[in-house]
Amino acid sequence: MGGDSPGDAIPGVDSRSAGAFSYLAGRRVAGRGEQATLSDPASGETLARFRMAAATDVDDAVTSARTAFPEWAAAAPVERAEVMTRWARLLTERAEDLAVAETRQCGKPIRLARDFDVPGSIDNVSFFAGVSRDLGGKAAGEYSPDHTSMVRREPVGVVGSIAPWNYPLQMAAWKVLPAVAAGNAVVLKPSELTPLTSLLFAEAATEAGLPPGVFNVVTGTGAEVGEHLVGHPDVDMVSFTGSSAVGRRVMAVAAQTPKRVQLELGGKAPFLVFDDADPEAAARGAVAGSLINTGQDCTAATRAYVQRPLYDDFVDRVAELMSHVRLGDPSDPATDMGSLISRQQQDRVSAHVEGARDRGAKVVVGGGVPQGPLAAGAYYEPTLITGVEQTDPIVREEVFGPVLVVLPFDGDDEGLALANDSRYGLAASVWSRDVHRCLRATRTLSAGTVWVNDHIPIISEMPHGGVKASGFGKDMSTYSLEEYTVVKHVMFDGTGEAHKDWHDIVLRGS
Ligand code: NAD
Repeated sequence: MGGDSPGDAIPGVDSRSAGAFSYLAGRRVAGRGEQATLSDPASGETLARFRMAAATDVDDAVTSARTAFPEWAAAAPVERAEVMTRWARLLTERAEDLAVAETRQCGKPIRLARDFDVPGSIDNVSFFAGVSRDLGGKAAGEYSPDHTSMVRREPVGVVGSIAPWNYPLQMAAWKVLPAVAAGNAVVLKPSELTPLTSLLFAEAATEAGLPPGVFNVVTGTGAEVGEHLVGHPDVDMVSFTGSSAVGRRVMAVAAQTPKRVQLELGGKAPFLVFDDADPEAAARGAVAGSLINTGQDCTAATRAYVQRPLYDDFVDRVAELMSHVRLGDPSDPATDMGSLISRQQQDRVSAHVEGARDRGAKVVVGGGVPQGPLAAGAYYEPTLITGVEQTDPIVREEVFGPVLVVLPFDGDDEGLALANDSRYGLAASVWSRDVHRCLRATRTLSAGTVWVNDHIPIISEMPHGGVKASGFGKDMSTYSLEEYTVVKHVMFDGTGEAHKDWHDIVLRGS
């Protein structure tokens, strides 16, 4: 096992599964699509070569899910809970393998994978094991004197789930767990850049007793595999996490059949600092919140608005803290920030920063691609930018890299208005020691999550999801079960009479 130094075996890539990067009916299989290479973005090293899934593999995966669905949907809640509890245990035993695989395929620091991605995902499994036994609902009762009504909460059917590359294991967990807990069968399409932990996750599910076919994985491109899954007539629901642009496309394709859609999309989280905030807490929160996962976090702090009296001090503190962030080999536990996911992402981040520079922005820290040993990977420096306008692209568009912009404001109303002036609405934070200011901000900020004096933490019991261009629907928490269940009203006649009073509306004469 292991694998945290170059040349070691990579969990999820071994002779048993060579080139088989999809998972159908409880088995690793090779796709029928194009050859692809899985790379470590931090070193450029090839981790594996594999055949991607093709549209025909999606058809097979959907058939596998459809076949498995009735038995799983009919399983007693306690049976589902037992399987998921065993699943959590197996994942706990394999936590180090999961962390190493996540680090190698994403270029993220091993500390982040060990302390956040993997334990968070396992906690999600445990949480959904519990709530699968209590899906909730209205009590049966006589809401009309002559009838007894009850509500059945039933699974939707076959769910097509599509996940991004930034937190591959957590995103697989968020998509698959509430669906499976509620009795659905799933076909998951991970990003073709990061399939390893989704495959390890699915294998552990089968070993824990999840019936083959309840959780399938198709590793392929968005254009071919993703779109075929979304438009598939035998898929009842699509759950998508990714960019707002692709989310719009997913919604349009899903409308052809049509089917239920849940969308978790991009973000551009504001970080609003009032003049009575604890300056050290705010500065540390901004650096950790903007650089976590190399800034490739949909809720990352990206736009800091700081009330004028604190502005200079905040910029100085953030610059000082950022200059100490250790960029380096992701497998080294001392590394704070790893590489970006790809050269393409590195180019995108560079283009955003160069665009801001061209418009007169001041790059206070970073703003470049590191040279020397790190040049082999897709690294980008922690970057702090000031001197920008609210209308600048770097303030409005999702950069998805380690870049924080800071803007000053004067009155509270202005700060709140600037924070809300975005097409996104995934997350936001407010920093102040005045409870009334904080309360007002939590009411006013348009976002699915608002933190007070913190930014980033998530927890299995609480929902995650956006408003505006950040999408709709919830991941995690019992709220996510609403997405993956259909509420059915069942109404019993309570009288036993052939002639009912209400028939008079139609049958007055007979
Ligand atoms: P992306 O939208 O490019 O891709 C996401 C997934 O969709 C991938 O698996 C991709 O292959 C697939 N895809 C691409 N085109 C498709 C199509 N036409 N039909 C179906 N599927 C298609 O996003 P990304 O670059 O992988 O991830 C970064 C984005 O994800 C950012 O915008 C980030 O904010 C967002 N994100 C959002 C959340 C959230 O919870 N709201 C969480 C993580 C990431």
